[in-house]
Amino acid sequence: MTPGIPVGGLCPDCARALATRAGRIGRWVAIATTVPLALYVTLTLPADRNARILGAAAIVAWYILTARIARRVAWEWLT
Ligand SMILES: [Zn+2]
Repeated sequence: MTPGIPVGGLCPDCARALATRAGRIGRWVAIATTVPLALYVTLTLPADRNARILGAAAIVAWYILTARIARRVAWEWLT
């Protein structure tokens, strides 16, 4: 981002503040959807090692994906 050039009508300071807020919303949404998924995976997956590793990987991937999407949606919503 070039300083002094507004991004979508926002000055760099406001854009940064909104990005922080959008990131926080994204994290909360991701946590809110990941916790039930983690519970479901923990309860339904067999207790062997490979299944647990796969389940953990799926949960991490889900968290990253939803955080990214929610941050994007929050950004659109805030601007
Ligand atoms: Zn501003």
